[in-house]
Amino acid sequence: MDRRDMLMNLFNSKGVKVNTNRGEEYYNRLYKQMENRLNELESQPVASKIDIEGLLDSEGLTRRDFLKWASATCASLMLPASFTPVVARAAELMNRVPVIWIELQDCAGNSEAILRSDAPTIDELILETISLEFNETLMAAAGHAAEEHLDEAIETFKGKYLCIVEGSIPTAMNGYYGTVGAKGETFEEHLLRVAKDSAAVVAVGTCATFGGVPAASPNPTGAVGVQDIVRGKPIINIPACPANPANITGTILHFVLTGQVPELDHLNRPKFAFGYRIHDNCERRAHFDAGEFVEEWGDEGAKNNFCLYKMGCKGPMTFNNCSIVRYNSGTNWPIGAGHGCIGCSEPQFWDKYAQERPMADTRFKAPTGGVEKTVDEFGLGLLTVAGIGIGIHAAISATAGKKSE
Ligand code: SF4
Ligand code: SF4
Repeated sequence: MDRRDMLMNLFNSKGVKVNTNRGEEYYNRLYKQMENRLNELESQPVASKIDIEGLLDSEGLTRRDFLKWASATCASLMLPASFTPVVARAAELMNRVPVIWIELQDCAGNSEAILRSDAPTIDELILETISLEFNETLMAAAGHAAEEHLDEAIETFKGKYLCIVEGSIPTAMNGYYGTVGAKGETFEEHLLRVAKDSAAVVAVGTCATFGGVPAASPNPTGAVGVQDIVRGKPIINIPACPANPANITGTILHFVLTGQVPELDHLNRPKFAFGYRIHDNCERRAHFDAGEFVEEWGDEGAKNNFCLYKMGCKGPMTFNNCSIVRYNSGTNWPIGAGHGCIGCSEPQFWDKYAQERPMADTRFKAPTGGVEKTVDEFGLGLLTVAGIGIGIHAAISATAGKKSE
């Protein structure tokens, strides 16, 4: 089975539900709107000479593979299967979307995640077709030539380009922890200048969304995320460390299809990607429900792929779709590889979640904006006896953790 079949099977086997309860009339109207939008986009000049057909050919992928991808993407965007042709057409028109990608305080891990694949997924290939007008990491130009190129791109694509931001923004020392260009523009000034004339700002990775690792205590550079700096623009957050290329492609595709940002949760994350709790789609969930846990690394439970909750898995309080989409061409994901989730798509994840012990008192918001519950509360609701055991274990571990601190 190839990786595209696997992705489709994952969508099917994980029971990813497409919310089609908005009624036929709604979806007919939406389809028409999308078609009109794509007609308009098609009449515009091609911004990038790279097209998806050529890339698919060069990777030995067929039209059938592409349509399978479109069908899976349709499901992940929470659209009915009948939208597959319009999604495929949008992917073919991605080369009409000008993008300015700026790199601030980070490790470039999100760019690396997209670039380092030796067998790129269709998501990654589609990202290659966007018209990347500026990207410090990838472009050949440097110094004054790069600065001129940026000014030119902002002017040419005023109001039309997507501003993609990777990395946090240092605010301590008047922002002088990070500067760019000959004039010593701070990262904050740089971001504000590029964001000002964009159609929307997409913060990619947990550093750009919530400050990420640079914002970990004691946060010496005063690192913050894009939404703390930019005002008056639509902002879409695609957190995770690194952000999954499938979610970046999905967000840009949504913009191509509708000209608008996708439906967002209370943290500005697209619901199509972050409306899932890791715990609810985890392959080890049956072991959690049965009260079967890894008690220490390398024990029998670990060998039998038991639940990692007692080893500190934060899947119960983390929202992301990596259990469905996975990483590295759909090969695997952290829990599949034997380590618990460290909540990398949540604010302050490094300080709050990245320890190998469970948490008893974490409060989290349901994606629908519903009630807040502690882990113990929902564990008890779900599990009765097993839940009580976990709650007690979590409370003991949290206390032990506090004592050792
Ligand atoms: S606690 Fe972690 S390993 Fe266990 S079922 Fe939930 S997400 Fe999976
Ligand atoms: S499993 Fe958790 S820590 Fe790992 S990538 Fe997914 S959200 Fe991030």
